[in-house]
Amino acid sequence: MKTDYRTLKVELNHEVALFKLNNPPVNQLSKPFVDEMREAFTEAFQENEIKAIILTGTDKNFIAGADITEIQQFKDRNTILPFVMENNRFLNSIELGPKPVIAAINGNCLGGGLEIAMACHYRIAAQGIQIGQPEVQIGLIPGAGGTQRLPRLVGLPDALQMIATGQPISAEEGLKKGVVDEVVPLESLTDKAFETAQRFLSGLLNQKDRITRWRKDKLPNFVSKKMIISFARSEAEKKGKGYIAPFKAIEAMEWGLSDDFEADLKVEAELFSDCAVSDIAKNLIGIFLNTRAAGKLPKIKGIEPQKIKTVAMLGGGTMGSGICNLLLTSGFHTLLWDINDEAIQKGLTAIQKTFDYPIKKGKMSQEELDRMIKERLITTTSLEELGRSDLIIEAVLEDMKIKQDIWKQLEGICRSEVVFGTNTSALPITEMASVLKDPSRMIGLHFFNPAERMQLLEIICGKKTSDQTLATSVAFARAIRKVPIVVNDGPGFYVSRQLGALLGESTFMVGEGVEPAQIEEAVLDFGLPMGPATLGDLTGLDINYHVIKNFERNLGERWGVSPIYELIYQTGCYGRKTGAGWYDYSGEKPIPNPKVQEVIKNYLKENRIQPKKLSNKEIVDRMLARAINEAAYMIQEGICDRPQDMDLAMVYGTGFPPYRGGILRYADTWGIRNIYEYLLKLEKEHGVRFKPAPLLKEMAESGRTFYENH
Ligand code: NAD
Repeated sequence: MKTDYRTLKVELNHEVALFKLNNPPVNQLSKPFVDEMREAFTEAFQENEIKAIILTGTDKNFIAGADITEIQQFKDRNTILPFVMENNRFLNSIELGPKPVIAAINGNCLGGGLEIAMACHYRIAAQGIQIGQPEVQIGLIPGAGGTQRLPRLVGLPDALQMIATGQPISAEEGLKKGVVDEVVPLESLTDKAFETAQRFLSGLLNQKDRITRWRKDKLPNFVSKKMIISFARSEAEKKGKGYIAPFKAIEAMEWGLSDDFEADLKVEAELFSDCAVSDIAKNLIGIFLNTRAAGKLPKIKGIEPQKIKTVAMLGGGTMGSGICNLLLTSGFHTLLWDINDEAIQKGLTAIQKTFDYPIKKGKMSQEELDRMIKERLITTTSLEELGRSDLIIEAVLEDMKIKQDIWKQLEGICRSEVVFGTNTSALPITEMASVLKDPSRMIGLHFFNPAERMQLLEIICGKKTSDQTLATSVAFARAIRKVPIVVNDGPGFYVSRQLGALLGESTFMVGEGVEPAQIEEAVLDFGLPMGPATLGDLTGLDINYHVIKNFERNLGERWGVSPIYELIYQTGCYGRKTGAGWYDYSGEKPIPNPKVQEVIKNYLKENRIQPKKLSNKEIVDRMLARAINEAAYMIQEGICDRPQDMDLAMVYGTGFPPYRGGILRYADTWGIRNIYEYLLKLEKEHGVRFKPAPLLKEMAESGRTFYENH
């Protein structure tokens, strides 16, 4: 038979054919790849000398899912259904084929990869590899029998858990649950697979007994099934608000798992198609693909980043300790600098604390942490000692003079190629760099709190930041598992200004008589993780107040604190840190703060304002219109120019619901002309806050969208 395909090689060893899949970078199932696999299987099934087949992957991947750019091309259900059913026929031909097929799972076995493995007759996995059906994470469900074969192997509750959450499991867990038959060290995987092939050939294993679709032993009876499904649905309702895929996956198992496997596959294919053409899947797929492309900017293409081994962290406070966690877990040698021994001790305790969660969850032991800290963390109060660092990250007090003094000293100590990254929340990078002889080495590395968990790194270029400094910073962001979004210097950079524009409108509405509780509800309903009052109490109402004042000074009268927020600010109730803000935290549960309620009541009375009822949609539309308008101002000012990155920044930095695709994706769906006209109306009613950005006006008139060139 043909042994040399573009994406797979066939090695013949006596009566066994070893198929080695190799479709870089991650063995993704694209149409040409599947076509070649199909051809190889067809030949091997016909070849008399071949009695068994082993399927294995390359490097770290068995098969890491399907090529979702192919799925993205489908516009309607009618074209997607035949595509899905063709894949099903291929898997059926393996499962019901004439020869035993053994999956030797060498690496990631995800999505379509697991579906193929489950159509094989025996599964051996290498230790530690990942197995899963993560489709719901991109708005899909398994579409090649996953919802029908997995419950037969692991039972319905575990299958629901794996499919409806999309969380992969390890090979070892897979063995316990029954999705794989054996787990062995990677080195012995192929030998073990050949041994298994011999067991089939000698009759020790019977192919017919190992056909997944015929297994019934783990399927529940009618009554249990009903209960299990209803529990899964209520769990999904708790977590999956706004999504459809978890519910469709549950439906596939609810209507499936019958005696008519082919009919069940058809049901699954239809539900898959519903998901695939939904806006939710399109948005989630967009976020997934853009995340992979984040930081790949044309201007740094081909620039070799500086090699980084040792990173100095200035300040071990809230942010510094979280960043140290990232540095340590990413394998960097870390030098923690702080002002005195007491601050260092505080920093060390804070770093330990950032590991509480992984230790509690059993992902790491205290001994491992102690060893890591001993081997890779050095503390110092002397700036001189930082001379051997390859990168410096600064998270000291938010004070321009303190920061500039430190940088000036470090310029005399560090090698000239060492990048200086500041984690300032709002100080201008260009001004901070102005004290340096070489300002091109300075950049903003804006982490979000808690730094060890938030996925975004907002990278801010000052006027003189060099492309080399940027290339190194982007590579560093990837090395610490962050999504890098690059923007230019300006008040609040991108994220704070965008979030300020989105949530800032809420207090104006309160001043018009809208209940704060209703605004919270509307925002949560839209899918943001917190309402503006809850978030304000967390960040501090005083901090938000000063941020907006700063925007007003720098960006003009379009910004400004609402009269009612001025009064609330004057109460001194700044949020959780003072025990009360919008809410009072002195009791067991937060309740609306009576002091703030009093302020609102008096304000409305004095100004003869009646309580006002807006629908949730009206509330959110108004907030979004202002946010979209501000985004247009930022594009126009050159703060950012990549809508896909702006959307990612809001998703990863603020929890903007990913299934909505981001603010600008949402704007394109809403229609730029509609937004523009709506802004004009709001401007008439409420004034300059809603003055449309010239760019938005131009887009509305010319019919352009944010995403059209991206
Ligand atoms: P923090 O108060 O927790 O820590 C401040 C650090 O600065 C401590 O390590 C402290 O010892 C050190 N320090 C105190 N006085 C100093 C001095 N005179 N000279 C040098 N260092 C001194 O603050 P944080 O919240 O970690 O913020 C640090 C930086 O990160 C600030 O620039 C802040 O704006 C920025 N930031 C904070 C957040 C946040 O949510 N906390 C988010 C993003 C960025």
